Amino acid sequence: MKVAVYKRPNEMAVIDAPQPHAQAGEVVLKVHACGICGSDLHAVQYGFGMPPDTIMGHEFCGEIHEIGAGVSGFKLGDRVSALPFNSCGECDRCKSGMEIHCQKLQGLGLGQLPGAYAEYVACGVKSLFKLPDNVSSRDGAMVEPLSVGLHAVKRSAIGAGDVVVVMGAGPIGLATLTWAKGKGAKVVVSEIAAGRAELARKLGADFVVNPKETDPAAQVREMIGESPATVFECIGVKGTLENAIEMVRPRGQVVVVGVCMEPDQITPLRCIFKEVSVNFVLGYDPPDFDETIKALASGRIKPQPMVTDVIGVDQVPEMFEALRKPGGRAKVIVEFPH
Ligand SMILES: [Zn+2]
Ligand SMILES: [Zn+2]
Repeated sequence: MKVAVYKRPNEMAVIDAPQPHAQAGEVVLKVHACGICGSDLHAVQYGFGMPPDTIMGHEFCGEIHEIGAGVSGFKLGDRVSALPFNSCGECDRCKSGMEIHCQKLQGLGLGQLPGAYAEYVACGVKSLFKLPDNVSSRDGAMVEPLSVGLHAVKRSAIGAGDVVVVMGAGPIGLATLTWAKGKGAKVVVSEIAAGRAELARKLGADFVVNPKETDPAAQVREMIGESPATVFECIGVKGTLENAIEMVRPRGQVVVVGVCMEPDQITPLRCIFKEVSVNFVLGYDPPDFDETIKALASGRIKPQPMVTDVIGVDQVPEMFEALRKPGGRAKVIVEFPH
């Protein structure tokens, strides 16, 4: 089967690899669609200790093609999205609903287990979530990144009518925007790139400001006479965390979703004067997948404008190259014939 793999830092390739077969407790999916994630770009840039020929891709859906021993509740042809990891289900972290922090976690698509930039991928049965007929396979590939936004919003204290700032309108910022709107908040998005600013408007942002021209917190003060209570940092470059802390009101909350790969400075004194809470968030909990799929099926969230490109697996290496330069692209979906 044809797969897109990591070769070495800054190099992807398309190669031929053996098709997986379903072991006990597993299914093999015929992949329909797999999104390219910002983490994939980081991983390819820095290597992350991935061996050469690692099959990447962890935002995916497909149809069940083969069923291993001991699997029940699914049949051939079922369309599913899958969590991109296997958790043990037995450690204290799994038992308390923090599967993403499982002590025996095995991630898919970043070096441990083969990922879904592939015609077929093997997944543990506990990772599967059925897709209703009215959720397309492209939307099925969006369940994972949307769940990241949902988890970020759930870890915040926002409610209906609140005015919040989302910094950055990349895929994660747009997913966070989508859910903040879904929870009834008013959202000011801060974004420099015109193309991404336009996407934020299409996804329902109440205001989109270019932070080089307008301070997002000033925009919020104009609306409610006070700085934002919650700021979602969805950029993840040096200095943006400190910017978020500058923006938020006293006893406000900064939720850090953007992934900054370098050491970064904040000023504790500023945090103390404001008594700010800073919460870092990672991934999602399994029920977030359920909630996302239900919201897609009911039309409560409509993420389609986030998808700016749909490509074939052959184009993955050149797209990774193109995505190294900032631009108007948001979510890129790798689609397989199905
Ligand atoms: Zn991801
Ligand atoms: Zn566990």
